[in-house]
Amino acid sequence: MSSSNWLNESYDNLGRSSDRPDFFKLEGSRNKKTSRVVRFLREIPLVVDRHVVPAYGTRIPVTCTGEEDCPGCKENIPVRKVRGFYEVVNSETGTVEILERGRKDLRKLKMLRSEGKLTERPVVITRTGMKLESEYAFDFVEGTKPKQISEEKKAELIGGFVLEEYLTPLSKKEFYDLINETGRKGRKDEKEDAEEATGDAFDDMERNALKIYIKKNSLNVTVYKSDSDDDIREKIRNAE
Ligand SMILES: [Zn+2]
Repeated sequence: MSSSNWLNESYDNLGRSSDRPDFFKLEGSRNKKTSRVVRFLREIPLVVDRHVVPAYGTRIPVTCTGEEDCPGCKENIPVRKVRGFYEVVNSETGTVEILERGRKDLRKLKMLRSEGKLTERPVVITRTGMKLESEYAFDFVEGTKPKQISEEKKAELIGGFVLEEYLTPLSKKEFYDLINETGRKGRKDEKEDAEEATGDAFDDMERNALKIYIKKNSLNVTVYKSDSDDDIREKIRNAE
């Protein structure tokens, strides 16, 4: 879809998402910025904590129930706190994707919201740098006027996908099926997508979670008191 269409459009040309949308991704690059124009379909993100469960040779995000009997917490599975989720329409594909961001970027989006409704104007998302140095920026596309996407159009775009359902914690049985790798493996691909889309699995893990992760995975990593959290993340990355 050409971007001039995108900015002036009536949205009639936009596609309908599949039952399970892709995650929004911007490739990182050391020397240049990459950017993409999106339309937000949700003003306020759904925010959850996500356990990162090692299973099936990958790390699978699973929403923390936030309750005392959360199986992820009980099993000391590392948790990535404060993950925010939005449905966005990607201007490149014209389909709905899931945008997942951590605390820092959620703050930036909140700032942007103080300038106008996210859902009323195209937003350009820009990424600079790679891995730990990645920085995201969110800006309204200049010169565009606020314009609501109709509820009908939104429903059509989103199709059968319900973000709230996607982020529903697993039942205890499902959770243990997952960590014991006895569950349906169908979830695997989906979760790998999520992992990739959010760049670094350790960015939002706090010190304790990082230490638990090292122990659980028997990594050859020593943590010193003088290490910053980022030092620890770097060590884990090098050890894996
Ligand atoms: Zn939990």
